Amino acid sequence: MTTRDDSKTRLDALRVEIERRNPAQPEFHQAVHEVLETLAPVLAARPEYAEPGLVERLCEPERQIIFRVPWQDDQGRVHVNRGFRVEFNSALGPYKGGLRFHPSVNLGIVKFLGFEQVFKNALTGLGIGGGKGGSDFDPRGRSDAEVMRFCQSFMTELYRHIGEHTDVPAGDIGVGGREIGYLFGQYRRITNRWEAGVLTGKGTGWGGSAIRPEATGYGSVLFAAAMLRERGEDLEGQTAVVSGSGNVAVYTVEKLLALGANPVTCSDSSGYVVDDKGIDVDLLKQVKEVERGRISEYAERRGASARFVPGGRVWEVPGDIALPSATQNELGEDDAAALVRNGVKAVAEGANMPTTPDAVRLFQQAGVAFGPGKAANAGGVAVSALEMAQNHARTAWTPNRVEEELARIMNDIHTTCHETAARYGVPGDYVTGANIAGFERVADAMLAQGVI
Ligand code: NDP
Repeated sequence: MTTRDDSKTRLDALRVEIERRNPAQPEFHQAVHEVLETLAPVLAARPEYAEPGLVERLCEPERQIIFRVPWQDDQGRVHVNRGFRVEFNSALGPYKGGLRFHPSVNLGIVKFLGFEQVFKNALTGLGIGGGKGGSDFDPRGRSDAEVMRFCQSFMTELYRHIGEHTDVPAGDIGVGGREIGYLFGQYRRITNRWEAGVLTGKGTGWGGSAIRPEATGYGSVLFAAAMLRERGEDLEGQTAVVSGSGNVAVYTVEKLLALGANPVTCSDSSGYVVDDKGIDVDLLKQVKEVERGRISEYAERRGASARFVPGGRVWEVPGDIALPSATQNELGEDDAAALVRNGVKAVAEGANMPTTPDAVRLFQQAGVAFGPGKAANAGGVAVSALEMAQNHARTAWTPNRVEEELARIMNDIHTTCHETAARYGVPGDYVTGANIAGFERVADAMLAQGVI
């Protein structure tokens, strides 16, 4: 019989080995550590999961692709970027996960995101494996023509690795509807196939799903609402602190407003805005989505209720709930302490791994409901899977139908995490609940499919 202590010793040794074999990838180490440290109870309770090699296989990507992406800027200068696609696990379906274009992208970042994606996708209950990709290309300040040439060069290599039954990328930081359009166009041109299901996040006029742009932000608000409901409260009248001002943050703000909450902040890498009257989502969309401007411009145009705090930490603003929606490790221990001091009740991660491990521990010790990204932000990939389903059937669902499905999926994920945590003796611990529930589904499929 394997005890929890035996399992823990084995998982600790595995973590050390993974760190040794994957040097200089701190974000990947962090993501693996955060999952492995919660798995001992499930390995002890279910001996089949203790099979040698199962967890080891889960932590090793099935395939890692790195390629050169040369492109010319508007002055004719040649730039060379690096492209990545990490196909992490396909036990449950084709690899699925976004592409990130940001100067900080490297193999370790893509592996952390791919690893997270495996568990997240399993939690949705849909038939999708996990993968992630991107490039160290910085789209900021680039013209549409430059972004198009970059996307075309990126797809000229990537196309041979993806397909509707193989690997289905979507957007992430720096990749939105414009980039998906250019990528899809080049894929179609190279392959001479109208293969709508090869990318998600497409325009609704040519194969995209209604509510896909909204889905991650809407979903994380629905997850926060479910956590509050569990405590006998609702979102109505709650003040919300939101970080970021990209795709996830904008639709987080929109849904908070629709449900009667009061989002008072948003941010970008230059600082944050606090708006005493609540964020005006139409102005936010105009500045960020239409004009691709900076968040400081929101404050300049909003009038007296809003001010821009350059370089500030958005977490110093008091709120009942917090939704970190920008990037990894953006909310540290001091930020968590400030939020707890100001009476925060719930935190739902819209971004991937935005909260550092110390900060997560602090929230949990303080009794704050904490929804990890792999559960709270799964709405985006869930609607991407619904987009694939619509593409396969050559049909388009109404926005209402997609939104109802999204709400059902987010509630199911919440219930799964909550019940799993209770079953393993840590009630209210959504981190453990999400990790174990995601693990069980992937591990069962891997065991059934043999050692591959
Ligand atoms: P966008 O590119 O649309 O927006 C990213 C936002 O985060 C911008 O406001 C950006 O500010 C800010 N940001 C990015 N990097 C940093 C940084 N290093 N420091 C401070 N701010 C930063 O991306 P998304 O909204 O799509 O993604 C946000 C997060 O949500 C990411 O963690 C992503 O992985 C996660 N996510 C996204 C999903 C989706 O469907 N899009 C699905 C699930 C998770 P600036 O412009 O100054 O860089």
